[in-house]
Amino acid sequence: MTSPLDTNRKIIVLASNNAGKVKEFNRLFAALDIQIVPQGELGVAECEEPHHTFIENALEKARHASRITGLPALADDSGLCVHALGGAPGVYSARFAGEPKSDARNNQKLVESLAGQTDRSAYYYAALVLVRHADDPQPLISDGICRGEILETSHGEGGFGYDPLFLLPQFGKTAAEISAEEKSQISHRGKALRELIAKLQETGL
Ligand code: IMP
Repeated sequence: MTSPLDTNRKIIVLASNNAGKVKEFNRLFAALDIQIVPQGELGVAECEEPHHTFIENALEKARHASRITGLPALADDSGLCVHALGGAPGVYSARFAGEPKSDARNNQKLVESLAGQTDRSAYYYAALVLVRHADDPQPLISDGICRGEILETSHGEGGFGYDPLFLLPQFGKTAAEISAEEKSQISHRGKALRELIAKLQETGL
């Protein structure tokens, strides 16, 4: 779906085409009179994510989108870190069960990897990077964590990725059983986004 470009507002290109992210990011950036445009609408293809840390991958994606469009660019990189698995799947969360990327197979592998484990603690992590231009020497950086526990069976139809297995103790529900608004309040990405916006309000674009 193509959103019309609003020429009265500043534009930040988002180094993602995920419709849920575009909507959530746009909702929060509207207060700053900034429009978030997914990179696909500006002809930017996904770039490689070759690094071992979330922050390096986010920086790579943001610089790539900014270099091609000539616009400020925002990128996130996120994943699930499970204590009993030494922090895996981490930066490899999207392709934990290999190619092609599949949430169902990732979830199945996660349940199998934790069979018999009593420590089910885990957290989602998100890093956000905003560059004002491709070679910005001082990108705005924020991050967020959301803690939970990995269940043995899936619950709920909402969310995406590992959400049906990810129990949020404060709700007594999985991340797939709460609303998008509730998730945004407590999620790793929501927290990182609010921190980034606060920084942006101080520095300007
Ligand atoms: P990306 O940063 O959007 O590419 O996400 C990387 C992967 O981490 C996703 O494909 C999911 O497997 C996992 N992930 C990140 N955030 C979430 C979340 O909020 N819910 C469920 N899975 C997530």
